[in-house]
Amino acid sequence: MGTIDRREFLRIGTTGLVGIAAAGPVAAAVETPRVRRRVKLGRTGLEIPDIGFGSSRLAGEENVVAHALARGITYFDTADSYTDGASETTLGRALRGRRDAVVIATKTQCSPTTTAAQLMRALEGSLRRLQTDRVELYFNHAVNDVARLRNAEWATFAERAKRDGKIRFTGISGHGGRLAECLDFALEHDVADVWLVAHNFGQDPGFLEQFTKSLDFVAVQPDVPTLLRRARAKGVGVIAMKTLRGARLNDMRPYEAGGATFAQAAFRWVLSGGLADALIVTMQTPESVDEYLGASGWTRSARADGALLARYEARNGASQCRYGCNACENACPAGAPIADLMRSRMYAEDYGDVSLARAALAEAGPRASACLTCTDARCLGACPYGLPIAELALRAARLV
Ligand code: SF4
Ligand code: SF4
Repeated sequence: MGTIDRREFLRIGTTGLVGIAAAGPVAAAVETPRVRRRVKLGRTGLEIPDIGFGSSRLAGEENVVAHALARGITYFDTADSYTDGASETTLGRALRGRRDAVVIATKTQCSPTTTAAQLMRALEGSLRRLQTDRVELYFNHAVNDVARLRNAEWATFAERAKRDGKIRFTGISGHGGRLAECLDFALEHDVADVWLVAHNFGQDPGFLEQFTKSLDFVAVQPDVPTLLRRARAKGVGVIAMKTLRGARLNDMRPYEAGGATFAQAAFRWVLSGGLADALIVTMQTPESVDEYLGASGWTRSARADGALLARYEARNGASQCRYGCNACENACPAGAPIADLMRSRMYAEDYGDVSLARAALAEAGPRASACLTCTDARCLGACPYGLPIAELALRAARLV
């Protein structure tokens, strides 16, 4: 993966960039931030920006959506569970009059026993909140169990919804410990046009060997990158999420230099890796929209990116659960969903979003509160990355 320094762009000017123009957005640092590259989302043929709008924490901030639109963002990702439906409602209001210019993706959870009628009701609720008669993409949300993908009711529902013009394409989203298993099944049975998956620099063996001298969850789920490659070869659209690996952005401000930020470095890692068509990221302020779009158009890493990513890893690796890892799955005699608890802690403490954490805990089920009464902490030492599971899980469980 080649690298180029952003300041070099500015120093040599556009005339010196003929041979490398495709590598990144020429003069990006001196122009208004905006979308600089649009991609075809696999076989769907949908055209979307390389960086899309994630709205898991949206609850009334129509101005942020308007700002994103003005910057050229035309892909909006939401879910029926985000902010108790307020995310969809906000998007519905903010996108009024712009519906034909944007691609909307929303999601619902299909369990192994959910019926087609229940799924249709969930979709209709989303359409009502979004003030539209159709969405381009409808995801089976947060799949982490092949049994959910085997439920034939999803296909029955999808066929009806497509026939009625309520959805155009279906997808699956996932970031759990059984992600690889689910992706493998999805590929084999061709159950989705698009995958939305956790994908970040923590998955790069080259990065981890160079900077941390150990493999991350690539070692635990080594098949994920291969599956993404195979999916793209089959025309499945791939969108990356969780690209910031925990999003402790403020920790990194003192180390950012030359106008490039940690977030931009993390996005460039995804956009230059060839395993995803595009990425989405939660956008909460006009400033964050502008910061994130600083990476739009880049198809290579910049020279300083590796050091920034490595510093982030060194600072945060000890408290961050690895997406897609489930190595501690059987470590808790009470069956506490440890990976879900770790993710909830991250939402509450690193993102500062307690309601998102509570929603994740609710989805995780009643065993999420087991740590509150646990006395022997048998999970001690179960994490190969050294996470103090009992301590972190208890902090999350207290939110229940
Ligand atoms: S706590 Fe450790 S072992 Fe458990 S899922 Fe997270 S990274 Fe993997
Ligand atoms: S603290 Fe106790 S209940 Fe919680 S994960 Fe560890 S062993 Fe399970």
